Amino acid sequence: MNLLSEIQNAKSVAIAGHIRPDGDCISSTLAVRAYLKNARDDLKITVFTQDNPPTIFSYLEGYDEMNLTYSPKEKYDVFIALDSSSLDRLGDSLWFFENADKTICVDHHETNAGFADVNLVDPKASSTCEVLYGTFDEEYINEAVAVCLFTGIVHDSGVFQYSNMSRKSFEIVGRLVEYGFDAPGIIQDTFYVKSYVQNQILGRALLESILFMDGKCIVSMVDRKMMQFYNVLPKHLDGIVNHLKNTRGVEVAIFMYEMGMQQYKVSMRSNGGVNVAKVAAVFGGGGHERAAGVEMNGTYYDIINALSREIEKQMQ
Ligand code: 5GP
Ligand code: MN
Repeated sequence: MNLLSEIQNAKSVAIAGHIRPDGDCISSTLAVRAYLKNARDDLKITVFTQDNPPTIFSYLEGYDEMNLTYSPKEKYDVFIALDSSSLDRLGDSLWFFENADKTICVDHHETNAGFADVNLVDPKASSTCEVLYGTFDEEYINEAVAVCLFTGIVHDSGVFQYSNMSRKSFEIVGRLVEYGFDAPGIIQDTFYVKSYVQNQILGRALLESILFMDGKCIVSMVDRKMMQFYNVLPKHLDGIVNHLKNTRGVEVAIFMYEMGMQQYKVSMRSNGGVNVAKVAAVFGGGGHERAAGVEMNGTYYDIINALSREIEKQMQ
């Protein structure tokens, strides 16, 4: 797919990612914005996000111009959905999807069935940002675009650590860093540095974690009381599940936070033996083989039991 050819006749484009946006989601939407601004100064471009993006990404060009509301009076010729595996992941952006003349989807989730008019889904890619790079003409990539693409790849690969990093991914990263931005600084400031309370809550989550299935699984949970006590939001809990996974012998890590009464957001990470996207899919969620998520109802222990049953099936 060549993105510029796909939007050749468009005068207006709306861009959005998924609900509760993560690094790849924010970066991919802002990468498309910056790229289209460079290539088409006649184009009206709107970036929409249902939920506030994490402020750590405020250095990305266009961050302050992301819209949290939309006007049903405005119509867009093209809507571009990014990093979203299915329509329900779009949240309020669904309005744009339903009202645009043409829809385009660029993604890297294996479970993406191709819900738009034109789809480019590459499950082998590290990130949506990596897939996007292949749709861009080099001449319209500037430092701002490169910074966005780099950030998305860094965040969806756990700083180039996950198995979704291929030779191609590393080559793209190599080309991006040539634009001269502070690559190590971005990694440090957006991936590793956490606020003091975030580190405190991480400590609590590690302290209260439980090993089960002979040490092959680890689980921990943060309830609403704890979130209120530390005054943190769900987006501040990103990364805890990765720390749980870095426990010797663990094959699957599960982290949950309480969204409401008997309602939990579950994040799962795997070292490869268990496909956690399949586990999540049983309960209506999704993601990737080694990183997946789902919202579940029930008590903490009900949910652990339900998930363990599915994990065990794959371990046999
Ligand atoms: P995280 O655990 O970091 O929230 O998400 C890990 C991966 O699972 C991401 O690729 C994300 O898109 C996917 N994911 C997380 N939560 C959900 C969910 O509720 N539904 C679906 N379909 N995918 C999810
Ligand atoms: Mn992604």
